[in-house]
Amino acid sequence: ATPTAVMVGTGIGASQGVLIKGGQALESAHKVNCIVFDKTGTLTVGVPVVVNTKLLKNMLLQDFYELVAATEVNSEHPIGKAIVEHAKKIKDRQDPAWPEACDFVSITGSGVKAVVRNKEVIVGNKSLMLDHNISISINAEEFLAEAEQMAQTVVLVSIDGELVGVLAISDPLKPTAPEVISILKSMKVKSIMVTGDNWGTANSIAKEAGIEAVIAEAKPQHKADKVKDLQASGYTVAMVGDGINDSPALVAADIGMAIGAGTDIAIEAADIVLMKSNLEDVITAIDLSRKTFSRIH
Ligand code: ADP
Ligand code: MG
Repeated sequence: ATPTAVMVGTGIGASQGVLIKGGQALESAHKVNCIVFDKTGTLTVGVPVVVNTKLLKNMLLQDFYELVAATEVNSEHPIGKAIVEHAKKIKDRQDPAWPEACDFVSITGSGVKAVVRNKEVIVGNKSLMLDHNISISINAEEFLAEAEQMAQTVVLVSIDGELVGVLAISDPLKPTAPEVISILKSMKVKSIMVTGDNWGTANSIAKEAGIEAVIAEAKPQHKADKVKDLQASGYTVAMVGDGINDSPALVAADIGMAIGAGTDIAIEAADIVLMKSNLEDVITAIDLSRKTFSRIH
């Protein structure tokens, strides 16, 4: 393609809300034959909602949510935001002042922790609890299994080393996802879902989307390693993601595509930004590159 054609292609992309950072990015996109999708916020709507809470200890729901919200209010993760929104409803206040949290730590792809009212609060997935030697009761395990079957994500809460509650979060699939995956298949592009979420939830969501290959419970570095594995098997790989946890994979991929509504770090790490946050713009980007770089049209 001539420099003019590349400029035209980039311009068309921009006018459609597909921001292509340079000619190299536009060129690589037409070779893509495998796409790795993040789940939360990429394949799913990304506005998760708390749909169920189970307290495992004798404590008030209000007090429970106050400690959890004080911790999560520091998190950038959509799950953290969902939990804070729910806590506001429990408290019945639009703008509550949560207790102060010290020593806040975010464990990317696992959860968060902080000290609130002199108690150590840990909020996150099962593996985060196991990492902190917190035992998970049969009650909690049952709650986990049921929620995962419904494609919900379970967040566990421990206070001072003891599991005190579990909550189920629902984040539905983007309505366009099944069609996008099916069109990609017809374009001979293989789709894979890689997520930090657990296997049960991941499999349920992938099934709804029509994605056959799934990798769950992946740490950010695993996402990047998976991309590299696919490249080593001869694929030209695009990674589509929205989170901080996706940035190593966005960089490792031949083409990183960030969801516009995603975090700044993902947007910086990407070669292409889908400004409208529409999944179908993954196809727009590949189409545009194919039209610019193959002379068969
Ligand atoms: P995905 O790859 O689907 O975008 P992440 O890697 O961001 O998911 O997160 C993986 C899992 O870690 C989540 O499903 C959730 O269980 C847990 N997690 C991440 N951040 C938080 C948080 N702020 N609060 C509670 N749990 C979290
Ligand atoms: Mg995500």
